[in-house]
Amino acid sequence: MTIEGGEGAGKTTVIKGLTRYLEQQGYEVVTTREPGGIPIAESIRSIILDPVHTMMDPRTEALLYAAARRQHLIERVLPALESGCIVLCDRFVDSSLAYQGHARGLGMDEVWDINRFAIEGAMPDLTLYMDVDPRLGLQRIHEAKQREINRLDLEGLSFHERVREGYLMLLEKFPERLIKVDANRMIDDVLLQVITETAARIKG
Ligand code: C5P
Ligand code: MG
Repeated sequence: MTIEGGEGAGKTTVIKGLTRYLEQQGYEVVTTREPGGIPIAESIRSIILDPVHTMMDPRTEALLYAAARRQHLIERVLPALESGCIVLCDRFVDSSLAYQGHARGLGMDEVWDINRFAIEGAMPDLTLYMDVDPRLGLQRIHEAKQREINRLDLEGLSFHERVREGYLMLLEKFPERLIKVDANRMIDDVLLQVITETAARIKG
């Protein structure tokens, strides 16, 4: 399963809590993230996110994400699924559809095409979309100062609003796979919903 959302939605925190819950239930869980998770993909991540690369072409960006995704899928995700683990991945193909496809304006269909090549049909059974008002999300990131500034932080509010719009389009398009979580709330409330929805899907 995958966790999606814009900046400051609280994906990292939710993933920690959900991993703990699933492990308590006796599941073996592999928690990972995109772009990154394995050395080749982490190297690609640092190219994509380095703030010095102000001139990166959007298609180059989309291809780099797809390349990192491919390697991570082959090296990390598929072997873990094969051995019976639940894979909890921070971002996957929906990020590219929302960010590069919609927000950057490449078009979701075009971005889907290169990702289809990269993932060869490997799609998550369940995706939790953490929906946060971009103003609140950016404010959280600004206040927490937990991570380094990346290239995306140079984008304005309107970019992040388009990202959210892209995710909302995906929710309409794939209502079976995507579940919307109101991530504007306090973390305990968010986590309760995340755990309840996940438990219902896993057992059902
Ligand atoms: O998930 P995380 O916040 O670590 O992602 C790192 C950065 O990469 C974020 O700023 C996110 O907006 C950006 N990103 C992107 N396109 C993707 C995936 C992530 O712009 N497809
Ligand atoms: Mg995070």
